[in-house]
Amino acid sequence: MPDTAKAPRLDRFSLPDASGHFGRYGGVFVPETLMTALQELAAAYEVARKDPAFLAELRHHLKEFAGRPTELYFASRLTEHAGGAKLYLKREDLLHTGAHKINNALAQALLARRMGKKRIIAETGAGQHGVATAAACAKFGLECVVYMGAHDMARQALNVFRMRLMGAEVRSVEAGQKTLKEAINEAMRDWVTNVRSTHYILGTAYGAHPYPMMVRDFHRVIGQEAREQILAREGRLPDELVACVGGGSNALGLFWEFLEEPGVKLTGVEAGGHGIKRGEHAARFAGGRLGVLQGCKTYLLQDADGQIESTHSVSAGLDYAAVGPEHAFYRDRGRIEFTYATDDEVLETFQLCSRLEGIIPALESTHALVHGLKRARALPKDKIIIVNLSGRGDKDVEQVAKILGVKP
Ligand SMILES: *Cc1c(COP(=O)(O)O)cnc(C)c1O
Repeated sequence: MPDTAKAPRLDRFSLPDASGHFGRYGGVFVPETLMTALQELAAAYEVARKDPAFLAELRHHLKEFAGRPTELYFASRLTEHAGGAKLYLKREDLLHTGAHKINNALAQALLARRMGKKRIIAETGAGQHGVATAAACAKFGLECVVYMGAHDMARQALNVFRMRLMGAEVRSVEAGQKTLKEAINEAMRDWVTNVRSTHYILGTAYGAHPYPMMVRDFHRVIGQEAREQILAREGRLPDELVACVGGGSNALGLFWEFLEEPGVKLTGVEAGGHGIKRGEHAARFAGGRLGVLQGCKTYLLQDADGQIESTHSVSAGLDYAAVGPEHAFYRDRGRIEFTYATDDEVLETFQLCSRLEGIIPALESTHALVHGLKRARALPKDKIIIVNLSGRGDKDVEQVAKILGVKP
């Protein structure tokens, strides 16, 4: 049931409330032993976010180390191919380590250093957040331990090696399905034990407060740049923004600056996998309902008894049973709409974008591109769409070659 009646006016700055809620979503659902750590983190972040010195230092590293600002690129051949609205790509794929994730990893590493914590832990699924965190820790001389499911370690051996090259210790998690969900549990367990020396760099706009808010804020730079860039280029705001949604950080990063612009349509794209059948997808808004998982209340894929369902997507970065709480809130309000793209659509568009633009997109980002192209076909030529190209597809080429049955 949408809770639109309760809050008539939309004020993005008022969210989350002091208890970490976005309406009925979010909150803090963790063991008692972590409450102090989360409160300490929230307090430190509250000071840092208003401290010009912290913000200037972050800006400096985002420029020199990560490679910001990223281009807003007019995809002329994809636009021509679609035959309708103009398609722009926000090029987060050009960032160091290959995706938007470095924005958050760098910022949290800086915050940890400020809090006097010299040891960092993180969880990773496909390895992208682990690689970004390992890079940030190497840069700032912080000890880094990354938890990763044993199954994911086998699938993503190259990312394991990347993390180790940059000095991180990668710990194999053997519990359950041996994937991301179990890796998060292990990271939380470590944090409980070592909370005084350790900061946990969570990789998306998910989990217990203050993480959803903090990670969102660290990605807001994407939308701030995109807004300036499109105004400079076209002299007006875009008509539509499209981004893929795993936990939801790259989407919130792009959308946030536009939430209070009613003329800009915002669409999040989830992983439709093999279609909306139990266990075959990760489209939480298409098949999920309200529940609590790993720190917060949100939409998640679960069976009648509340057991978490298994998920599937061709892209590891979108393959998670729950979605960030802020997305659930804005969906109820009708401000962000959600759709999904299937594996087949993604594989086709992955090749199309590579061939027409000379840009190999991450499989995650390709979900957004699938929908962006549908909208470009449907809208007239004077409309403008921005798709967030959250990462590059170098990490995915081997997997795609295998699926297509070709030898790379
Ligand atoms: C991890 C990842 C995502 C999904 O995470 P969000 O928090 O939803 O942004 C999307 N794209 C890429 C390239 C990723 O690595």
